Amino acid sequence: MSGRVILVGAGPGDPDLLTVRALRELQRAEVLLYDALISPAILALARPGCLRVDVGKRGDGSRGVPQERIAELLIEHARAGARVVRLKGGDPFVFGRGGEEIEALAAEGIHFQVVPGVTAANGCASYAGIPLTHRDHAQSCLFVTGHAKDEKLELNWESMVQPHQTLVVYMGLQSLPMLTEKLIVHGADPQIPAALIDNGTRDTQRVITAPLGKLAAKVAKLELPGPAIVIVGTVVGLRDKLTWFTPGETADSGPPSRIAVHAGSFAGDEKN
Ligand code: SAH
Repeated sequence: MSGRVILVGAGPGDPDLLTVRALRELQRAEVLLYDALISPAILALARPGCLRVDVGKRGDGSRGVPQERIAELLIEHARAGARVVRLKGGDPFVFGRGGEEIEALAAEGIHFQVVPGVTAANGCASYAGIPLTHRDHAQSCLFVTGHAKDEKLELNWESMVQPHQTLVVYMGLQSLPMLTEKLIVHGADPQIPAALIDNGTRDTQRVITAPLGKLAAKVAKLELPGPAIVIVGTVVGLRDKLTWFTPGETADSGPPSRIAVHAGSFAGDEKN
């Protein structure tokens, strides 16, 4: 029997943000290769008895399994006939190297499928109460990587400082001082609202907001662990009105339903 590889997006952390398809694939995985960013609560949903292989890069700088070796492992297990789930944080096709991994599979004639996931920008924005677009604020939204190569950020700064646009920066925690400085040099208003969301959608979520010119200094004091994403744009100002998620509470535990509120007040009425 020939095996296959399913490249699955795990979302940004909250297990409730897995797609139904992702959950099904986890439940029938025979081999599971996963990244460092995947929360333990999500790994716990995988089929008991499946072979789990941690191929993640670590935040401490240790490299994890090299990309070529990951591709080899996927090919080896699929050739041995296994149903292999390659689980990646967020969406596999957004800054996830998912494309590179399945290129290797395609070259070897291995059958593969892709299951999209909630990307960090969407998950973190929702759980921070920041709409990425809004008719009064932003008609476009740009996702960029803030990962610096040789301590340099080579980005199209012009495109990033456009008005009526929301900018989302992945992998920008380390480069935040350089990133915010360059945005301002290229014409961004230092007063524009900005936010950094650390561990978004998880029960350790922290949201730090400040004018763009002050964000890096505020974040530096907190020594946040990451992963973290940066959102820049006037939409960030809406958070004051639109916050709804309290880290540590599940996203579906909200105020009591209207029916319960009514029942309570009827009971009160009877007493009077
Ligand atoms: N494929 C992933 C992104 C991988 S790059 C996706 O679609 O989300 C890794 C970067 O994603 C991190 O450096 C960080 O910027 C962002 N990220 C992932 N999970 C996050 C989370 N829970 N909170 C904040 N940022 C997160």
